[in-house]
Amino acid sequence: MALIVQKYGGTSVGNVERIKNVAQKVAKAKKKGHQIVVVVSAMSGETDKLVDLTHQAKEFPIGREHDVVVSTGEQVTIGLLALALQELGFKAKSLLGHQVPIITDSSFSKARIERIDTDKIFSELKKGFIIVAAGFQGVDEKGNITTLGRGGSDTTAVALAAALKADVCEIYTDVEGIYTTDPNICPDARKLKKTSYDEMLEMASLGAKVLQTRSVEFAKKYNVPVMVKSSFTDTDGTLVTKEDRDMEKVVVSGITYNKDEAKISVIRVPDMPGIAAKLFAPLTKANINVDMIVQNISHDGFTDLTFTVSKADFKKALQLVQKTAKEIKAKDVLSDINVAKVSIVGAGMRSHAGVASKTFEALAKEGINIQMISTSEIKISCVVDVKYTELAVRVLHKAFGLDKEDVRDERG
Ligand code: ADP
Ligand code: ASP
Ligand code: MG
Repeated sequence: MALIVQKYGGTSVGNVERIKNVAQKVAKAKKKGHQIVVVVSAMSGETDKLVDLTHQAKEFPIGREHDVVVSTGEQVTIGLLALALQELGFKAKSLLGHQVPIITDSSFSKARIERIDTDKIFSELKKGFIIVAAGFQGVDEKGNITTLGRGGSDTTAVALAAALKADVCEIYTDVEGIYTTDPNICPDARKLKKTSYDEMLEMASLGAKVLQTRSVEFAKKYNVPVMVKSSFTDTDGTLVTKEDRDMEKVVVSGITYNKDEAKISVIRVPDMPGIAAKLFAPLTKANINVDMIVQNISHDGFTDLTFTVSKADFKKALQLVQKTAKEIKAKDVLSDINVAKVSIVGAGMRSHAGVASKTFEALAKEGINIQMISTSEIKISCVVDVKYTELAVRVLHKAFGLDKEDVRDERG
C-alpha cells in the first residue's frame, strides 16, 4: 500500500462532469489499496475572476482581504470532488488550508509554506477517508487566510507529499507531461520521460507554468518524486527526479516564455553611488520582486535604467518609481506592458560556447527586436514585444534542435 498525493489543476476540474472524471481516477487508485490525498485547484478561470473582483473593489487590493476572496475558488472544487467521491461509494472529506492546517508566513498573495501539521490527515486516512485538500491556500500564525501565488496548488501538493512522506506526488494537468517547450504554442515540442529538479527549477522560474517554481524547490529539498501527466488520457507522463549525469550533455533543455512581465525605464538617471538603491528600496518595501535589470554605460554622468516586474505588481511599481524619479531628478519614466521574456534554458550551456550568438541570429532572422538581454551560466533571457512571443519560441526551439531526440528520451 502506498500513500499517493494527486493534484488536479483548473482545467481538470473545470466543470462538474470533469470533477466526476477526476473522482473516477481517484477511485481507481483507492481501489488498488492506496491511501490517497487529493489536492485540487479552482475551476479554470475562477481565480482570474476573483482577482478581477478584488481590483474592482480597491485599486491596490493585495492584503488580508484579497486572499480571503481569491482563495474561495478552491473551496467549491474540494466540496464538489468530495461529493462526487461519496456518490461513488467512498468515504471522502474536504479540508481547507486552515483545517489541515497548512501554516504559511503572512505575505498575502505570495505566502510561503512554513510547516504542515499532518496529524489530522493521518488520522482521517487511517479511518479510510480520501482527503480532498484545497490547493493554493494556507493560514498564518494569526489565523489569517493566505494564498501561495498563482499556480500555487502545485506547491500545496508537493509540500503535502513531503510532509506526509508520500511515495509519489502525481500532478494531473491538461498536457501529457513536461515538454521541451509549451506544447500549446509549439507543435514540435517534445515530451520528456524524465527531467531533473534543477532543470525543471530553471524552466519553471523562467515561465514554464506547468509546475509552480516553489513546488519544484520543495520536491528537490525533500526528494519527492513528481510525476506530471494528463488527467484526460492514460499515457505516461514525465518524472521529475534527482540529477542524472547525462543531463549535463543536453546543452539546451528547453525554451520558456513569460508574458507576465512589464518593463519600466528610468531615463537620464544621475550616474552616482546610491541611486539604484534609492530606486529599488521602495519596491522591496512593497514586496515587489524585480526581475531583469539593465543599466546602460553612462556617457555624460547620466544613465538609463530599465527593469521588469510582474504585471500584477506593475501599477504599484510604476507609482513608486515615478515618485523616486522625481526626487532623484531623472528626466522621465517610460513603461511598457506589452512585453514578454523568452528564455533558453540548459545546464549544459556552462560548458558550451555559442548559445548566445545562435539565439540572437535566430531572432534577427525573423526580424524580432531584442529589447533587453540577461544571461546566467545556464540561461539566456530576451525581452521582446509580446506579439512575437510564439514566433520567438518556435524559432528558438528549432534553432537548438529541440525537436530531435536527446538523452532524456532514452532513459525511462
Ligand atoms: P493546471 O491548471 O493543471 O495547473 P497550468 O495551466 O497551470 O495547468 O499548466 C499547464 C500548462 O503549462 C499547459 O497547458 C501548457 O500550456 C503550459 N506549459 C508551459 N510550458 C510547458 C512545458 N515546458 N511543458 C508542458 N506544459 C507547459
Ligand atoms: N487557482 C489558483 C490559480 O489559478 C491556484 C492554481 O491553479 O494552482 O492560480
Ligand atoms: Mg498550474
